[in-house]
Amino acid sequence: MDHPYFTCTEIRPGVYAAIAKEGMEAIGNAGFIDLGEETLVFDTLSLPQAAAVLRTEAEERTGNRVKYTVNSHYHSDHTNGNQIFKDTVIISTAKTKAEMAGSLISESAPVQGLDLMDLAVGIMEETLPTLLIEDKLVLEGKTRSAELYHFGCAHSCSDLFLYLPVEKILFAGDLVLADRHAWMGCGRPEEWITVLDRMAPFKIEAIVPGHGPVGGPETIQKTQDYIRELMDHVMNLKIKGRTPDEILAAPMPKKLSGLARHSVYERNVRFLFEYAESGVLGCRLPV
Ligand SMILES: [Zn+2]
Repeated sequence: MDHPYFTCTEIRPGVYAAIAKEGMEAIGNAGFIDLGEETLVFDTLSLPQAAAVLRTEAEERTGNRVKYTVNSHYHSDHTNGNQIFKDTVIISTAKTKAEMAGSLISESAPVQGLDLMDLAVGIMEETLPTLLIEDKLVLEGKTRSAELYHFGCAHSCSDLFLYLPVEKILFAGDLVLADRHAWMGCGRPEEWITVLDRMAPFKIEAIVPGHGPVGGPETIQKTQDYIRELMDHVMNLKIKGRTPDEILAAPMPKKLSGLARHSVYERNVRFLFEYAESGVLGCRLPV
Protein backbone atom coordinates (compact mmCIF):
# COMPACT_ATOMS: atom_id res chain seq x y z
CA MET A 1 0.00 0.00 0.00
CA ASP A 2 1.09 3.54 -0.70
CA HIS A 3 1.39 6.07 2.11
CA PRO A 4 2.56 9.70 2.15
CA TYR A 5 5.74 8.65 3.96
CA PHE A 6 6.64 5.22 2.62
CA THR A 7 5.70 2.41 0.29
CA CYS A 8 4.88 -0.82 2.09
CA THR A 9 5.53 -4.09 0.28
CA GLU A 10 5.20 -7.70 1.45
CA ILE A 11 8.55 -9.28 0.48
CA ARG A 12 7.50 -12.73 1.71
CA PRO A 13 4.30 -13.74 3.50
CA GLY A 14 4.39 -11.91 6.83
CA VAL A 15 7.59 -9.97 6.06
CA TYR A 16 7.22 -6.34 5.03
CA ALA A 17 9.50 -3.51 3.92
CA ALA A 18 8.49 0.13 4.42
CA ILE A 19 10.61 2.01 1.90
CA ALA A 20 10.79 5.74 2.58
CA LYS A 21 9.65 7.97 -0.26
CA GLU A 22 12.37 10.21 -1.59
CA GLY A 23 11.93 13.80 -0.44
CA MET A 24 9.39 12.93 2.24
CA GLU A 25 9.85 13.05 6.00
CA ALA A 26 10.24 9.34 6.84
CA ILE A 27 13.79 9.51 5.38
CA GLY A 28 14.99 6.10 6.67
CA ASN A 29 13.50 2.76 5.69
CA ALA A 30 11.75 0.48 8.17
CA GLY A 31 10.05 -2.90 8.15
CA PHE A 32 7.85 -5.21 10.15
CA ILE A 33 7.62 -8.95 10.62
CA ASP A 34 4.80 -11.21 11.76
CA LEU A 35 6.38 -13.59 14.28
CA GLY A 36 3.15 -15.50 14.80
CA GLU A 37 1.35 -14.08 17.79
CA GLU A 38 3.24 -10.81 17.88
CA THR A 39 4.83 -8.36 15.47
CA LEU A 40 8.35 -6.94 15.34
CA VAL A 41 9.07 -3.49 13.89
CA PHE A 42 12.55 -2.73 12.57
CA ASP A 43 13.42 0.99 12.87
CA THR A 44 10.93 3.78 13.50
CA LEU A 45 11.48 6.37 10.76
CA SER A 46 12.34 10.03 11.19
CA LEU A 47 9.10 11.39 12.56
CA PRO A 48 6.44 10.22 15.05
CA GLN A 49 3.69 11.01 12.54
CA ALA A 50 5.27 8.60 10.05
CA ALA A 51 5.84 6.01 12.79
CA ALA A 52 2.15 6.14 13.72
CA VAL A 53 1.26 5.23 10.14
CA LEU A 54 3.87 2.46 10.28
CA ARG A 55 2.39 0.99 13.47
CA THR A 56 -1.16 1.07 12.10
CA GLU A 57 0.00 -0.62 8.92
CA ALA A 58 2.01 -3.24 10.84
CA GLU A 59 -0.86 -4.19 13.14
CA GLU A 60 -3.51 -4.21 10.42
CA ARG A 61 -1.41 -6.27 8.03
CA THR A 62 -0.25 -8.85 10.56
CA GLY A 63 -3.33 -8.87 12.79
CA ASN A 64 -1.00 -8.80 15.81
CA ARG A 65 0.08 -6.11 18.24
CA VAL A 66 3.64 -4.85 17.99
CA LYS A 67 5.63 -6.50 20.78
CA TYR A 68 9.22 -5.74 19.73
CA THR A 69 10.77 -2.63 18.20
CA VAL A 70 14.37 -2.67 16.99
CA ASN A 71 16.62 0.38 16.59
CA SER A 72 19.30 -0.55 14.06
CA HIS A 73 21.46 2.36 15.27
CA TYR A 74 21.03 5.73 16.94
CA HIS A 75 20.62 8.05 13.95
CA SER A 76 17.42 10.02 14.24
CA ASP A 77 16.10 9.03 10.83
CA HIS A 78 15.80 5.50 12.27
CA THR A 79 14.71 6.32 15.84
CA ASN A 80 12.62 9.52 15.99
CA GLY A 81 9.41 7.50 15.83
CA ASN A 82 10.25 5.49 18.98
CA GLN A 83 7.59 7.16 21.12
CA ILE A 84 4.87 5.51 19.04
CA PHE A 85 6.26 2.17 20.25
CA LYS A 86 6.90 3.09 23.90
CA ASP A 87 4.59 0.29 25.11
CA THR A 88 6.71 -2.31 23.27
CA VAL A 89 10.10 -3.84 24.06
CA ILE A 90 12.56 -1.52 22.29
CA ILE A 91 15.81 -3.32 21.46
CA SER A 92 19.24 -1.87 20.65
CA THR A 93 22.87 -2.09 21.64
CA ALA A 94 23.96 -0.25 24.79
CA LYS A 95 25.91 2.21 22.67
CA THR A 96 22.84 3.08 20.62
CA LYS A 97 20.92 3.83 23.79
CA ALA A 98 23.76 5.95 25.16
CA GLU A 99 24.04 7.94 21.93
CA MET A 100 20.28 8.56 21.87
CA ALA A 101 20.02 9.73 25.47
CA GLY A 102 19.70 13.51 25.62
CA SER A 103 20.04 14.00 21.87
CA LEU A 104 16.39 14.11 20.89
CA ILE A 105 16.16 15.29 17.25
CA SER A 106 18.90 17.79 17.99
CA GLU A 107 20.81 16.95 14.84
CA SER A 108 18.00 15.86 12.60
CA ALA A 109 17.12 19.14 10.99
CA PRO A 110 17.58 20.01 8.29
CA VAL A 111 18.12 16.59 6.73
CA GLN A 112 17.82 16.24 2.98
CA GLY A 113 16.44 19.76 2.86
CA LEU A 114 13.54 18.98 5.19
CA ASP A 115 13.04 20.94 8.36
CA LEU A 116 11.84 18.20 10.64
CA MET A 117 11.91 20.49 13.64
CA ASP A 118 8.85 22.28 12.27
CA LEU A 119 6.97 19.01 12.10
CA ALA A 120 8.29 17.53 15.33
CA VAL A 121 8.40 20.54 17.64
CA GLY A 122 6.30 20.08 20.77
CA ILE A 123 5.45 16.47 20.11
CA MET A 124 8.75 14.64 20.50
CA GLU A 125 9.24 12.49 23.61
CA GLU A 126 12.56 10.85 24.37
CA THR A 127 11.88 7.11 24.17
CA LEU A 128 14.95 4.98 24.79
CA PRO A 129 15.52 1.26 24.23
CA THR A 130 14.59 -1.05 27.12
CA LEU A 131 16.33 -4.28 26.09
CA LEU A 132 20.04 -4.11 25.28
CA ILE A 133 21.90 -6.78 23.35
CA GLU A 134 25.59 -7.35 23.00
CA ASP A 135 26.27 -9.35 19.85
CA LYS A 136 23.34 -11.68 19.23
CA LEU A 137 19.70 -12.13 20.21
CA VAL A 138 17.21 -14.64 18.81
CA LEU A 139 13.50 -13.92 19.12
CA GLU A 140 11.54 -17.14 18.73
CA GLY A 141 8.00 -16.47 17.52
CA LYS A 142 5.25 -19.00 17.01
CA THR A 143 5.71 -19.12 13.24
CA ARG A 144 9.20 -17.71 12.66
CA SER A 145 12.29 -16.58 14.48
CA ALA A 146 14.24 -13.40 13.96
CA GLU A 147 17.96 -13.09 14.68
CA LEU A 148 19.65 -9.83 15.65
CA TYR A 149 23.41 -9.33 15.29
CA HIS A 150 25.92 -6.66 16.22
CA PHE A 151 29.30 -7.17 14.52
CA GLY A 152 31.08 -4.00 15.67
CA CYS A 153 31.92 -0.55 14.42
CA ALA A 154 30.78 0.09 10.84
CA HIS A 155 28.35 2.79 9.62
CA SER A 156 28.08 3.72 13.29
CA CYS A 157 29.71 1.97 16.22
CA SER A 158 26.41 0.40 17.24
CA ASP A 159 24.79 -1.12 14.13
CA LEU A 160 22.36 -4.00 14.55
CA PHE A 161 20.99 -6.00 11.67
CA LEU A 162 18.13 -8.48 11.59
CA TYR A 163 18.19 -11.79 9.75
CA LEU A 164 15.36 -14.20 9.00
CA PRO A 165 17.08 -17.57 8.50
CA VAL A 166 14.14 -19.36 6.86
CA GLU A 167 13.12 -16.56 4.51
CA LYS A 168 16.77 -15.54 3.95
CA ILE A 169 15.94 -11.86 4.31
CA LEU A 170 18.22 -9.32 5.97
CA PHE A 171 17.13 -5.95 7.37
CA ALA A 172 20.42 -4.07 7.26
CA GLY A 173 19.78 -0.59 8.66
CA ASP A 174 22.48 1.69 7.27
CA LEU A 175 25.06 -1.12 7.07
CA VAL A 176 23.93 -1.57 3.48
CA LEU A 177 22.80 1.28 1.25
CA ALA A 178 21.41 0.95 -2.24
CA ASP A 179 22.55 3.18 -5.07
CA ARG A 180 23.55 6.17 -2.96
CA HIS A 181 26.49 7.71 -1.17
CA ALA A 182 26.89 6.10 2.24
CA TRP A 183 27.79 8.39 5.16
CA MET A 184 30.96 7.11 6.81
CA GLY A 185 31.75 9.72 9.45
CA CYS A 186 29.97 8.17 12.44
CA GLY A 187 31.76 4.83 12.24
CA ARG A 188 34.99 3.30 10.99
CA PRO A 189 35.07 2.70 7.23
CA GLU A 190 37.78 0.02 7.24
CA GLU A 191 35.95 -1.94 9.94
CA TRP A 192 32.67 -1.46 8.04
CA ILE A 193 34.19 -3.49 5.19
CA THR A 194 35.13 -6.24 7.67
CA VAL A 195 31.65 -6.27 9.22
CA LEU A 196 30.15 -6.75 5.76
CA ASP A 197 32.65 -9.57 5.12
CA ARG A 198 31.22 -11.33 8.17
CA MET A 199 27.79 -11.40 6.49
CA ALA A 200 29.18 -13.68 3.77
CA PRO A 201 28.08 -16.96 5.44
CA PHE A 202 24.47 -15.76 5.62
CA LYS A 203 22.25 -17.13 2.87
CA ILE A 204 20.50 -14.00 1.59
CA GLU A 205 17.79 -13.61 -1.01
CA ALA A 206 16.69 -10.04 -0.22
CA ILE A 207 18.10 -7.11 1.70
CA VAL A 208 16.12 -4.18 3.06
CA PRO A 209 18.72 -1.39 3.19
CA GLY A 210 18.60 1.65 5.46
CA HIS A 211 17.86 3.85 2.46
CA GLY A 212 16.81 3.03 -1.08
CA PRO A 213 14.92 0.08 -2.59
CA VAL A 214 14.97 -3.58 -1.55
CA GLY A 215 17.92 -5.32 -3.18
CA GLY A 216 19.65 -8.66 -3.45
CA PRO A 217 22.83 -9.95 -1.77
CA GLU A 218 24.94 -8.02 -4.27
CA THR A 219 24.14 -4.78 -2.40
CA ILE A 220 26.59 -5.87 0.31
CA GLN A 221 29.41 -6.03 -2.23
CA LYS A 222 28.31 -2.74 -3.75
CA THR A 223 28.48 -1.04 -0.35
CA GLN A 224 31.97 -2.45 0.22
CA ASP A 225 33.06 -1.32 -3.26
CA TYR A 226 31.79 2.17 -2.51
CA ILE A 227 33.74 2.42 0.73
CA ARG A 228 36.96 1.08 -0.83
CA GLU A 229 36.67 3.25 -3.93
CA LEU A 230 36.17 6.47 -2.01
CA MET A 231 38.84 5.69 0.59
CA ASP A 232 41.36 4.97 -2.18
CA HIS A 233 40.40 8.11 -4.07
CA VAL A 234 40.84 10.40 -1.07
CA MET A 235 44.05 8.70 0.10
CA ASN A 236 45.66 8.77 -3.35
CA LEU A 237 45.05 12.50 -3.74
CA LYS A 238 45.97 13.26 -0.13
CA ILE A 239 49.35 11.54 -0.60
CA LYS A 240 49.92 13.84 -3.58
CA GLY A 241 49.41 16.82 -1.30
CA ARG A 242 45.89 17.80 -2.32
CA THR A 243 43.63 19.61 0.15
CA PRO A 244 40.01 18.54 0.76
CA ASP A 245 38.78 21.39 -1.46
CA GLU A 246 41.14 20.28 -4.23
CA ILE A 247 39.98 16.68 -3.90
CA LEU A 248 36.39 17.85 -4.20
CA ALA A 249 37.29 19.92 -7.26
CA ALA A 250 38.81 16.82 -8.92
CA PRO A 251 36.51 14.53 -10.90
CA MET A 252 34.57 12.06 -8.77
CA PRO A 253 35.53 8.41 -9.42
CA LYS A 254 33.38 7.19 -12.30
CA LYS A 255 31.82 4.35 -10.32
CA LEU A 256 30.47 6.84 -7.80
CA SER A 257 29.22 9.55 -10.13
CA GLY A 258 25.72 8.13 -10.65
CA LEU A 259 24.88 7.68 -6.98
CA ALA A 260 22.14 9.61 -5.19
CA ARG A 261 22.70 12.05 -2.29
CA HIS A 262 25.62 13.94 -3.71
CA SER A 263 25.92 16.11 -0.58
CA VAL A 264 27.08 13.02 1.34
CA TYR A 265 30.02 12.71 -1.07
CA GLU A 266 31.42 16.07 0.01
CA ARG A 267 30.99 15.22 3.69
CA ASN A 268 32.64 11.83 3.19
CA VAL A 269 35.65 13.35 1.42
CA ARG A 270 36.16 15.88 4.22
CA PHE A 271 35.66 13.19 6.87
CA LEU A 272 38.08 10.70 5.25
CA PHE A 273 40.74 13.39 4.90
CA GLU A 274 40.54 14.27 8.60
CA TYR A 275 40.16 10.65 9.66
CA ALA A 276 43.36 9.70 7.84
CA GLU A 277 45.22 12.36 9.78
CA SER A 278 43.73 11.96 13.25
CA GLY A 279 41.58 8.82 13.41
CA VAL A 280 38.83 11.04 14.83
CA LEU A 281 35.28 10.37 13.75
CA GLY A 282 33.53 13.20 11.96
CA CYS A 283 29.95 12.51 13.03
CA ARG A 284 27.84 15.62 12.62
CA LEU A 285 24.57 15.16 10.82
CA PRO A 286 23.14 11.67 11.16
CA VAL A 287 22.04 10.02 7.93
ZN1 LIG B 1 22.66 6.11 9.82
